[in-house]
Amino acid sequence: MLDLESLFNLSYGMCIISSKKGNDFNGCIVNTVFQITPEPPMIAVSVNRQNLTHEYITKSKVFVVSILAEVAPLEFIGRFGFRTGRDTDKFQGVNYKLSIAGAPIVLDNTAAFIEAEVTNAIDVETHTLFIGRITACETIDKSKVPMTYNYYRDVKGGRTPRTAATYIAKRPKTKSKQGVKEMKKYKCLMCGYIYDPAVGDPDNGVEAGTAFENLPHDWVCPDCGVGKDEFEPIEE
Ligand code: FE
Repeated sequence: MLDLESLFNLSYGMCIISSKKGNDFNGCIVNTVFQITPEPPMIAVSVNRQNLTHEYITKSKVFVVSILAEVAPLEFIGRFGFRTGRDTDKFQGVNYKLSIAGAPIVLDNTAAFIEAEVTNAIDVETHTLFIGRITACETIDKSKVPMTYNYYRDVKGGRTPRTAATYIAKRPKTKSKQGVKEMKKYKCLMCGYIYDPAVGDPDNGVEAGTAFENLPHDWVCPDCGVGKDEFEPIEE
C-alpha cells in the first residue's frame, strides 16, 4: 500500500530559503529544512532543481533559511512560494539584511534565521539535498511563533506548489461537460496561475467542466491563495 496522503502526518516548518548571484537575490518557500548534527552544526534542505534559488545556491554555495512566523500573510508566502524570481524581484518591498556571505535574510514575518555554507549537494531525482555548515544563526523576534506546515495548510488554508518536495498530485477526473470550449479561462493577477474549465482544479475537488463563475465563492487560487476577485478572464 502506498497511501501518499499518510505523509501529511510528518511535521515540517515553513521557511524561506534564499541565496544570491552577484548582486541578484532570490528566495523560495521550503518546508524541508532539518538539522543534521549539533557539532559541527549542520543543516540540510531539499530544493527543486527547477527553482531559480537552486541555481543561485549551486553557484554561490551559500543559503539562508528565514524561519516564517504564524503571522505571515498568505500573500507574503505566495510572493516567495508561487512566483518565479525569473520575472519578478521577490525582495522588492521586503525588509531584509545581508548575511555574512551576502545573501538576504528576510526580516518581515520571520522568527529566526540560519546562514549556511554548502559542504555537499546530493542529487535526488527532481530535487537536490543541500547540506550546509551553519555560519550564523540568530533569533529575529522572540515573540513570533514559527509556522508549521500543518498550520499553513489547516489554519491559513495554504496550498502546496507543484515544485515542493512534499507536493502530492491528484489525478484529474476525465468527465467533461458539454460546452466547456465556450467557457473562458481565467488568470490569477497575483501569481499568473490559469484556471482552465476543461481541467478544473482536481487537487481541490473541482471537477473538469466547471465554469469559473460556478466555482464555490470561497474557492482560492491553488497556487497563491488569493480569492476569485483577483482573477480576470483571458480573451482568446
Ligand atoms: Fe494565484
